[in-house]
Amino acid sequence: MASALVVALIATAAPASAAPTPAAPSTVAPAAGAAAEPDRQPTAVGYGGAVSTVDPTATAVGLEVLRRGGNAVDAAVASAATLGVTEPFSAGIGGGGFFLYYDARRRAVHSIDGRESAPAATTATHFIDPATGAPYDFAEARVSGLSVGVPGTLATWRDAARRWGTRPLSSLLRPAIGVADGGFVVDAMFRAHVAENLTEFGQFSSTRDLYLPGGAPPEVGSVHRNPDLAATYRQIARRGVGEFYRGPIGGDVVAAVNRPPLAAERPHWPHLIRPGAITAADLAGYRVRRPAPTRSDYRGLDVYGMAPPSSGGVAVGEALNILERGKLRGLPRAQALHRYLEAGALAFADRNRHIGDGASRRTVRRLVSDRYAADRACLIDPARALPKPVGPGDPNARPGGCASARPAGSPTEGQSTTHLTTADRWGNVVAYTLTIEQTGGSGIVVPGRGFLLNNELTDFNFTGTQGDAADPNLPGPRKRPRSSMAPTIVADRGRPILALGTPGGSTIITTVLQVLVSRLDLGMDLPAALAAPRVTQRNTAVAPAEAEFLATPEATALTALGHRFELRPEIGAVAAVELWRDGRMLAAAEPARRGGGAAAVVRPR
Ligand code: GLU
Repeated sequence: MASALVVALIATAAPASAAPTPAAPSTVAPAAGAAAEPDRQPTAVGYGGAVSTVDPTATAVGLEVLRRGGNAVDAAVASAATLGVTEPFSAGIGGGGFFLYYDARRRAVHSIDGRESAPAATTATHFIDPATGAPYDFAEARVSGLSVGVPGTLATWRDAARRWGTRPLSSLLRPAIGVADGGFVVDAMFRAHVAENLTEFGQFSSTRDLYLPGGAPPEVGSVHRNPDLAATYRQIARRGVGEFYRGPIGGDVVAAVNRPPLAAERPHWPHLIRPGAITAADLAGYRVRRPAPTRSDYRGLDVYGMAPPSSGGVAVGEALNILERGKLRGLPRAQALHRYLEAGALAFADRNRHIGDGASRRTVRRLVSDRYAADRACLIDPARALPKPVGPGDPNARPGGCASARPAGSPTEGQSTTHLTTADRWGNVVAYTLTIEQTGGSGIVVPGRGFLLNNELTDFNFTGTQGDAADPNLPGPRKRPRSSMAPTIVADRGRPILALGTPGGSTIITTVLQVLVSRLDLGMDLPAALAAPRVTQRNTAVAPAEAEFLATPEATALTALGHRFELRPEIGAVAAVELWRDGRMLAAAEPARRGGGAAAVVRPR
């Protein structure tokens, strides 16, 4: 049972003050008594608290924290720390993320922006090769020290735990220390993530040692241990997060970024591996921010999301406002999907033009206003798809325009990341999306520390994408790259009824939107809304869609309207919790995508 495993892990994890365990090989054959994977169940209904993540061990850890009286914030931090062990290619203390929290006592939604920031010395030409004047190839930029932003994840955990949690961070790290020390069974997804990074990981001695035992990805069914990460977590638990931002762990981060630990023998890689220039002062100067969440009204419900530097809250909010101009319920399914696709394209045009780190609160407010949505919605023709890309609007123009500017490019982000949602018996709710950007981040494991560094700075645009207009997402000193992460909380008269989020780069926005529309308008229950085949229109000529979607009669009808689709094997990996009037909670995770997620409640009913 999931819980038995985690009780055991929590019980056997060395206390935070114990000496680090000696290093052991990171991956070994299954040993007697090795931790078996807990149950992987996509849906759970009941009382007392709920957890949904992509990973059964992380869910089991969060659940056990709730069972022992911790709140939703405690559970979210403990689960996230565990994902840093079991989902290290998507999340960890080498990255950043956005934490959205509903505080039941104060009936207020708060957010933490723990996004990575660029070093102080960063310029707008950060990703321009000085030798050629041309932007670096994406792969060259990614696998480098240049792409690494100052990580914000530990600062996020500390801030959340201090402000809203009931347990010290040291105790919330303990289950993850147990998992890193004791090991977990490698599944197909873990192996696949290493396999797709074989060449990238092979460049760095530290990454190879951890993830390529004997030069190959770990076998499915073998046990993976990460004693270096256990020791890192233990050091942080014992001495505090200052070990990272002002201490020896940070020193090792700076060294790894500025002198990437190249392996003596490396597989062929067609690019130079460029160093970055993060300083100890950059790390010491890192602070989380606490922006007011975005809020928009959707058919009488309040939808809260992440403000810039994420474009998630703005784009989801704007698209919902556009959809709200007409009824979707009762429309033929293809017509409802047509409007969903058009709203996505229009919102993407706007976020590309108007959203970056530093976007003004006024711009944000206007973009998520009903007035502005009216000007955008009037562009939608029920009988014909808009030619893509569509142009952005001007949220500062006088309303009544029904016009758009000249279209410009639509940059997109990577495909990694992870999301978790928790709720507790007091009614607190957390939606937390965290990432190291690409699956595998920059590919650089900090030597002796057991975690991968992000490549989040590649979420900046390398060159301007907006034609003659300013690009709000060019690199700059201490600037945070624009994100698409969209942790979302929906409330009805001040009480949350649904919280969700997903990975998937810029498809995050449309996946959150599609699940909301499916659940709130199209009459699906939450598990059905998660399982429904996905399609993502991000203002591109051709919209990626899953095979199951392409086989529907709606896809045929939409093609007749002028939409064009291409196959994308999988879009997103949602983790959600619904809170019902009778006090029950429904935790829902993916039934199949990414190998299936894990949902659990404290008292199933
Ligand atoms: N770096 C992306 C963002 O912040 C997320 C990456 C992903 O989900 O793949 O939006």
